Parts: sequence; C-alpha cells; structure tokens
Amino acid sequence: MGIKPKPAMNSPAPAEEKSLAMVLRGARETLRAEQRPLPEPGAGEVRLRVRACAVCRTDLHLQDGDLPMARWPVVPGHEVVGTVDALGAGVTDWHVGQRVGVPWLGGSCGHCRYCLAGQENLCDAPEFTGCTRDGGFATHLVARADFCVPLDHLALDDASAAPLLCAGLIGWRSLRMAGADARVLGLYGFGAAAHLIAQVAVAQGRRVHAFTRAGDTATQQHARELGCAWVGDSVQAPPEPLDAAILFAPVGALVPLALKAVRKGGRVVCGGIHMSDIPAFPYALLWQERQLLSVANLTRADAREFFDALRTLPPLRVHTRRYPLQAAGQAMDDLRAGRFQGAAVLVPDAP
Ligand SMILES: [Zn+2]
Ligand SMILES: [Zn+2]
Repeated sequence: MGIKPKPAMNSPAPAEEKSLAMVLRGARETLRAEQRPLPEPGAGEVRLRVRACAVCRTDLHLQDGDLPMARWPVVPGHEVVGTVDALGAGVTDWHVGQRVGVPWLGGSCGHCRYCLAGQENLCDAPEFTGCTRDGGFATHLVARADFCVPLDHLALDDASAAPLLCAGLIGWRSLRMAGADARVLGLYGFGAAAHLIAQVAVAQGRRVHAFTRAGDTATQQHARELGCAWVGDSVQAPPEPLDAAILFAPVGALVPLALKAVRKGGRVVCGGIHMSDIPAFPYALLWQERQLLSVANLTRADAREFFDALRTLPPLRVHTRRYPLQAAGQAMDDLRAGRFQGAAVLVPDAP
C-alpha cells in the first residue's frame, strides 16, 4: 500500500500523439515546423491523416502575400490525399480508414446567391483549404466532411493522386470552359495542371498545342511525350488557329498572345488565381466575338465529374517530385524556380 505498481515494461503508456505542421506565420515568411496537439474535428468535420499533399503555385502566392483573404498563421496545402482518422459529431457519410481528397474549396455558406445557383465556387463567404483554414502541409488536418472528395475508385497511389485535387480539377474546369467544341486547344504554361489536362484532352480526341517559356526544351520534350501535337515558345504562332487557349502561367503578357492565336469566336481561359498585369492590346484582338474568361476555384460537382470521367479514360501519367514533409520549403523554392517537371508532392513519413 502506498506504493504504486510500476507499469509493465511491455505495455508503456501510449505517448500522446502529436501532429507536425509546416506553418506560415505571415506573408513573406518562411515555413516553420511546429509540433501541435492532434486537431480535433468539430461537428460536421473529419480529421485526416495526410498521406500526400501536392504543392501548388497558389501556395507561392500565399507566401508572397498576394491572397488578401489569407488568415495567419496558416498551414498551406490544398491538394491533400488522406485517410479518415476521426469523425466529428453528426458525420455519417465517411468511415474511419476511407481514402479521401481535400481540395482548395474547403467550405461555402450554402445560402448566398452563388451557392443557390450552383456556383459555390463563387460563394460570398467561402473557406479555402490552406488559406483561411489549415491545410495539408502537415501530418493531420481537419476538413469539412461535406467538402471532402471520395477517392475510393481512383487507381493512383496517394502521391500521384494529390496533384489531381487542384491542378487536375482546375484543369478540368478550365477545359470545360474552353468548350466541348474546342477541338484545337492551346495550353500556355506546361506545369502541373497542363501536363494532366493535356492527357485528358488528347484522350478526348482534341489536338493540343503546348506553349512554354522560350527555350525550355525539357518542358517541350515532356509535352511531346504526353501527346501534344505541337510545342513551341509562347511568343510563337501555332501551326493552325486555336479554337480555345487555356493560360496556366501567371503571366498577363500571354493574354494578348493567346487572343491573337485563337480563331474568330474562340475563347481564352485564364486558369490561375493570380496573374501579372495584362498589357494594353488593340481591340482587334478581342473583336470577332473572341471571349476572355477566368476560372475561379471549383465546385464539388466539378470534382465528382472529373473523377467520374477519369474512370473512363486511359490512366493518367502523373509526374511527381516527392519531398518529405519537413522539406516543404525546398519544394516551394523548387517550384518557384521551375526545377522539375510535373508536380511537387509532400509525403509525410508513414506512421
Ligand atoms: Zn492550387
Ligand atoms: Zn455561399
């Protein structure tokens, strides 16, 4: 009595599980690793164990202070593949262990005019993963259950699946905006989004022309390997007028070039969240019913449609450069400098 029994050697008390998060404390800061208590899912939320999270150009814009809606400090990352680890109150659609994706649109209000019109991507009070709520540059994250995307049927490993959650989806929405009748398509900027959607467009029977930075022969070779009919520098004219062009590079000077490359009635779709200023250009480039559009965010319907479509297409070749979670800063630097083809993906150490 009075003496507590020692814990048995073979059953140590479990260490309290922590999460590791790479955190930006403000604009123009560098990422810092933080140990945190495991985040608890609230009502209507799920906690995921992150299996992979891709790095997007938007994460660079966040770091640069280009996104005024950001809430600091924040864990970036909105191309998340994870397994459900814990369910908040009232969540019945998911089960523990299920593989899901978490995209950029992390929530919408459900009652503004846009939400009611099927345009939740334009919601007046949206939540953005890795921007207004913590994202996937971490071992764990909490997401709204109704904004997770089921990935049960996707025949890709976690790291290859991650870039589909933004690069793939934004590409998909941009391709749809380009129009079903856009048989001849130009892609300006051949990074994570373009290398995925080029494959989809080619599989749909479209002819794809890829425009890269002048002299970027490695990227041009990559585009050729993925089935593009023609590749060239963005200042070059394509070999035939384009029905539509999609701009993934955040370079406003490409807009007049793309308008010049599309036929009468053609469309130019800007797929990025941020772009440098568009220089003045003669009205003649827009005349003849050419259209200039932008794509913002994406809806849950886009995600369902995209992942359904992938089931009927040849398997995507997803080019990834994989980094440990703690090397997230290096991954962002490499993306900024254009040091790899395809997409950078953070893979937290397996538990
Ligand atoms: Zn993104
Ligand atoms: Zn809304």
